Formats: sequence, structure tokens, C-alpha cells
Amino acid sequence: KEVSIPDIFDGIISKNTAALSKGITLVESSQKKHSQKAQQLIEKCLPFANNSTRIGVTGVPGVGKSTFIEALGNLLIKKGKRVAVLAVDPSSTISGGSILGDKTRMESLVRSKGAFIRPSPSGSSLGGVAQKTRESIILCEAAGYDVIIIETVGVGQSETAVHSMVDFFLLLKLAGAGDELQGIKRGIIEMADAIVINKADGDNLKRAREARNQFKKALHLYPIAESSWSPEVLTCSALKNTGIEEIWELILKYLEISSKNGYFEQNRIRQNKFWLLQTIEEELKSSFYNHPEIKKSLSDQIKAVQQHKITPFAAASYLLDQHKSLK
Ligand code: GDP
Repeated sequence: KEVSIPDIFDGIISKNTAALSKGITLVESSQKKHSQKAQQLIEKCLPFANNSTRIGVTGVPGVGKSTFIEALGNLLIKKGKRVAVLAVDPSSTISGGSILGDKTRMESLVRSKGAFIRPSPSGSSLGGVAQKTRESIILCEAAGYDVIIIETVGVGQSETAVHSMVDFFLLLKLAGAGDELQGIKRGIIEMADAIVINKADGDNLKRAREARNQFKKALHLYPIAESSWSPEVLTCSALKNTGIEEIWELILKYLEISSKNGYFEQNRIRQNKFWLLQTIEEELKSSFYNHPEIKKSLSDQIKAVQQHKITPFAAASYLLDQHKSLK
């Protein structure tokens, strides 16, 4: 059945979630005939986009991301906002399945009229998955969502990808057994606008507060970010719904400061440039690696390299020349 872009667009603009879902499915499709239509749709939506607050949420599995997003989402809905939740799940590139996409998650938020929840797209590369999510943000914004929360698991490069598509990046942590900074990647702390120690409830409350102090001390050692914002450390209980309002207030404070000093706008412009370059890279890579002829010669060349019959550089050069001649 032919998909009608004007129909989907009209649906999106009139806040019809079925149309939005259809649009995102189109964006996520890996079929060539869909990608052209998806681009048309995105272009139509673009003038209506760019008007939401984009928040990234990351943390290891089990830290409470979905519980937290549900708590924050419900709070925002109560405040009259419309909330979309998207995800970038790097595991979908490995297993084809998605840890984050589990349907039973965020049950109360799912039922909320003002909420739209979409599991991670799947894809053969993280770059591809992230690009689809980036494009879906545009559709969600055109559909009038005020806040877009993008969830990712604390694995590999996915945090960097999500950081580059959001205004505010929030790292969820648990109170550990003392040395709070152990096992946390330096680069992630540098990306975080807030570190939130979750599960600050019951017996865990004291440890969560101690963890908070340790993180605060540690953050002092980092140079002041370009945004001139110093990341804050908060505690919350996503389960008991405490500390969530404070986190939203912190985000609002960030938005105010970064809008005033121009960083907000500047950051989005820089992100757009980054995505332009990323998209080119992804396209070049996929046109190369997915070409049937290249696939065949690539495995031949790998064999030849392994048997020391050719150097890796000569093999690469041969393949790239072959790719050029194929187009
Ligand atoms: P995710 O894998 O990061 O999305 O984590 P989930 O949101 O699925 O939470 C993992 C487990 O931790 C679930 O059993 C939650 O009920 C529990 N959990 C999440 N937030 C809290 C919290 O604030 N306090 C407590 N005690 N448990 C929590």
C-alpha cells in the first residue's frame, strides 16, 4: 500500500499519534523507497520542529531509567506538558532485539494521553540507529511534544550519540559500596549536566547522600564546561517519586542560563553540523559495505591480507577503487 506523505504530515501536525507512529516507521525503514519518502516527511516537519526540550537519560541496566523516565514523564504530564520518549539502544545492532524496547515498561506513562513512547529503532550500526532517532525527534516536535526524553543504556558509544542530540544530559547512578568514581567512564561525567543518584530510599538513603557528596567533590576537579554550567548532583527515588520535581527545576534552571548566554542555540547549531557530517559518514559506509560486489571482494581481500598476499593498505585501496567504479 502506498503511503501518503501529505496525509501522514497532516496527521502529525494535528497531533495524531497513529500518524506519528507511521511517520517514525517510515523513518526507521531501511528500504530505499521508504527513505526518500521519509526525507520528504522530515522536510515538511522541519519548520514545525526545534521547539522542544530534549533530555538525554543514561545509566547502566537496572539503575532505574525506565522507572525514572516514567516518574519524570508523569510529573511533566501533570504540569500540562506533552512528553515523547525515544530510545537509542546499541544492543539492537548486535542481537537484533532491544533491551530498552520492552513493552511492559512505563505502564502508567504509556496510558497517559499526553505521552508518546517509542522503543529504539533497530539497525546494523549505532550510527544508523542514532540517526533514525534524531530524525524521529523532528517528527515528535512537529507533533507538538514539549519535552523529548531520549533514553540510552550506558554501553559503548551510544552515550556520545545521545549527548549530541539533546540539550540536557542526565546520568543516573546508584550509590556504590564506597568508591563512587570507580567504574565510571571519565568522558561520561564530562558530558553530564546532572548526575542523579537513584534509589535514594529506605536503607539506601544514607548511602545515596554520601555518594552525592563524593560526586560533588569529584566534579569540582573538572574544568568548567563551555556552557558555563557546572553539573549538579542530586538524589531521587524514581520508585517512591521523591526528588523528581527538583530535577525538573534543575533542568529549567539550565535552560534559562543556557538560553540567556546563547549556549543553547549555539549547541543546537553545532549538533546540526555534527549530524550533517555523521549522516554523510553513515551513508558512505553503508553504500560501501552493503554493496553486493564489495561484500564479495571484501571477504576475498580479507583472506588475501590474512595470508600475507597483499598489504591491508593495498587491499583497502583496491576495494575503494572498485567501489568508485561501481557507482
Ligand atoms: P533500567 O534497566 O535502568 O530501565 O531500570 P528499571 O527502571 O527497569 O529498574 C530496575 C529495577 O530497579 C526495578 O525493579 C525497579 O522497580 C527498581 N527501581 C527503580 N527505581 C528505583 C528506586 O528509586 N528505588 C528502588 N528501591 N528501586 C527502584
